[in-house]
Amino acid sequence: MSDSVLVYKGKEIANYGFGDPHPFGFDRHDVFQQELIDAGLDQRVEFRMPRRASVDELMLFHTADYIDLVSRKSTEGRGYLDDGDTPAMPGIFDAASDVVGTTLAAVDAIMAGDAKRAFVPIAGLHHAARDRAAGFCVFNDCGVAVEYLRKKYGIRRVTDVDIDAHHGDGVFYGFVDDPDQIFADIHEDGRYLYPGTGAAEETGKGLARGTKLNIPIAPGSEDADFAREWTRVEEYLQQARPEFILFQGGADSLEGDPITHLAFTEEAHAKAAAALCQLADKHCEGRIVGTGVGGYNRRNLARAWTRIVQSFVDAN
Ligand SMILES: [Zn+2]
Repeated sequence: MSDSVLVYKGKEIANYGFGDPHPFGFDRHDVFQQELIDAGLDQRVEFRMPRRASVDELMLFHTADYIDLVSRKSTEGRGYLDDGDTPAMPGIFDAASDVVGTTLAAVDAIMAGDAKRAFVPIAGLHHAARDRAAGFCVFNDCGVAVEYLRKKYGIRRVTDVDIDAHHGDGVFYGFVDDPDQIFADIHEDGRYLYPGTGAAEETGKGLARGTKLNIPIAPGSEDADFAREWTRVEEYLQQARPEFILFQGGADSLEGDPITHLAFTEEAHAKAAAALCQLADKHCEGRIVGTGVGGYNRRNLARAWTRIVQSFVDAN
């Protein structure tokens, strides 16, 4: 097992976005990569290239009809894939497939023993449902990765831990009745922020009832509030005995984000990433893939994601 930390870098994933003036612009990838260099971390990680997911891989999570719709709309290159958040950009099918493939590449590298930890900055598209786009998210790489780990590696107890300001509804409802998909999500209370879901009472359905952890927090919540709730996430994960951790480290939970109302600093992301590495070492042979998800204040996303990578490096 190598001690390397992998960071995925390349124009293929940078091309996932919606251009000016959409908050999910094309510049987010490069802003983060520059901060990584400024922090000296480019010398301490191993960079890897994106790869494209196949249609068969997309179909592990998404319906064939929805994949066809995205393909058609991507060729037309106009209008929206949903009710007005996610534009049907020309070429969005390939860019979204590149995001999924890159998260799967990170999974494969870790399962092959190339590294214990990896970070994919433009990924973690947690709003996309099995049959529709939502909230800037076309294909749900997190959801595909859960199914991929099961099918290819026989790993069932995959955990999604999500500290993006928005509830990870695409992942949550994608596995809402599945007791083996472990889910913990701290997010701004849905009464104040898109997508409006993720109430504390939502703990799963059917056989999965009581197995998932949603933690809505009030607008304006700071690092101390995050730390208090984070202890619940750690206790939950200790009980849940995950086999692989997917960490959605959205930076839109930091103070100053233009579309949310939380007030964390990047210390929250550093702390969460460090704690998850410890949990991964205890339960998952170290295996963790972090993704950038949201974050629309460029300074915030650069700092938060860099601190996640720093925590991954320091944990080795
Ligand atoms: Zn978000």
